[in-house]
Amino acid sequence: TADLEEIAQARAPHETLLFNARPVLAGPVAGGQRHEVRNPATGEVVGYVLPAAMPDVQTALTAATPWEAAPAQRAAVLRRAADLYEAEFGTIFALLAREAGKTQSDAVGELREAVDFLRYYADQGEAQTAPARGIFTCISPWNFPLAIFTGQIAAALAAGNAVLAKPAEQTGLIAGFAVDLLHKAGVPVTALQLLPGEGAVIGTALTSDPRVAGVCFTGSTTTALRIRRTMAAHLEPTAPLIAETGGLNAMVVDSTALPEQAVRDILASSFQSAGQRCSALRCLYVQDDVRDTILEMLYGAMDDLEAGNPWDLATDIGPVIDAKAQASIRDYIEAARAEGRVLKEGQVPSDGTFIAPTVIKVNSIADMPNEIFGPVLHVAPWKSGGLSRVLDEVNAMGYGLTFGLHSRIDDRVERVVSQICVGNTYVNRNQIGAVVGSQPFGGEGLSGTGPKAGGPDYIARFTRPAPPPLA
Ligand code: NAD
Repeated sequence: TADLEEIAQARAPHETLLFNARPVLAGPVAGGQRHEVRNPATGEVVGYVLPAAMPDVQTALTAATPWEAAPAQRAAVLRRAADLYEAEFGTIFALLAREAGKTQSDAVGELREAVDFLRYYADQGEAQTAPARGIFTCISPWNFPLAIFTGQIAAALAAGNAVLAKPAEQTGLIAGFAVDLLHKAGVPVTALQLLPGEGAVIGTALTSDPRVAGVCFTGSTTTALRIRRTMAAHLEPTAPLIAETGGLNAMVVDSTALPEQAVRDILASSFQSAGQRCSALRCLYVQDDVRDTILEMLYGAMDDLEAGNPWDLATDIGPVIDAKAQASIRDYIEAARAEGRVLKEGQVPSDGTFIAPTVIKVNSIADMPNEIFGPVLHVAPWKSGGLSRVLDEVNAMGYGLTFGLHSRIDDRVERVVSQICVGNTYVNRNQIGAVVGSQPFGGEGLSGTGPKAGGPDYIARFTRPAPPPLA
């Protein structure tokens, strides 16, 4: 509920502060090679992360103990954690801007979601009667370094598991701060240990030890498939993999859509968070008779986007996460430019890891590479076979995360919703975002295993199902 003035004041003391994070274990920490964290917008040093070393994985696995407290007591602790997150919003917004390049409106949404996850899973856990599974490994991405990191942990803890949390390499400081708040709220260290570190090393170790009873993962489809193979080789066959992964998300705008609304929603769906959302719109189909109008309006709106340092409260578009991401997205745009396929490019500062919002022409979604995780929108031609061809083309890609539709024909809306194979369909609105408890989020096919995060079935996957009755 804080207004901009309050946000600015609460963040101010953290503008130049250096943060630190390290493994948090119920035992001694060995640690690896400390590394610097730099602000993606400015290059300034934000702090230092001491990653976990292999002996730390053993220490954590040996000490990990499922959280034995009564469900109501666990729920009370998670609710207290939610209150602490809210009270610390200044530090959290500073960290989200300076470590992850989040604009302040993104940061507000992210804190809200993290807090909602804590309270929702607290309620769900209180109502749970099935036993915990044991030790859960939770592996999270950098693009929602607070919300997804917190949501996974909260669900596993609410069900009574011991959690080994491995945040993304890029966002160890935010993870360290969040774990500190969870411990302050009363989560025992034996029930929640933090192991920042490289996915290929620490992540693999945490998904290949037979003491691990389940894995909760959010990140790319490639990594999820790798984890599934690792688990199959080392873990009990009953150990669940709960995975939320990438997408190739499309939107259809037909000739009955309201142009202003459609353009506003295309803009938010493609470029908010610099396109670094799994739900983001990647491929747009506009019916021929309104195509030129919609694209012209879109290009005009792109010129009005304020790109810059996310610390500035007026910024719409911040940087992409790091120089490596910037280089690979740039290479992709340059290749499209060489083929004459770049239709429009916005403006961004020359310093920092910015990518200008870009629109690229493709013949079909099938010509797109797997996910370009940045502010790049593709536009594909409407098909001679009409909407059915478009839906077939999108479904054939095998992903199934989000789909957007702008249309005012009721029959068409119903047909699309029933034919498109995705977890979340958004009609006449932007196609990003979810609401914990009422609009749960999750994909199908290559986009995830389900159940949807923030939904009523989620927490049951973190518990041990009852054995089948005797015949
Ligand atoms: P990533 O797959 O590169 O990394 C995710 C996490 O996995 C990191 O913590 C990483 O260290 C770890 N990891 C990497 N290799 C591993 C291995 N071999 N074993 C165990 N862990 C390993 O993804 P990212 O770049 O951090 O995040 C962006 C991706 O996440 C995008 O594809 C995006 O679509 C997806 N995402 C999906 C959702 C969703 O809800 N469906 C939400 C956010 C992000």
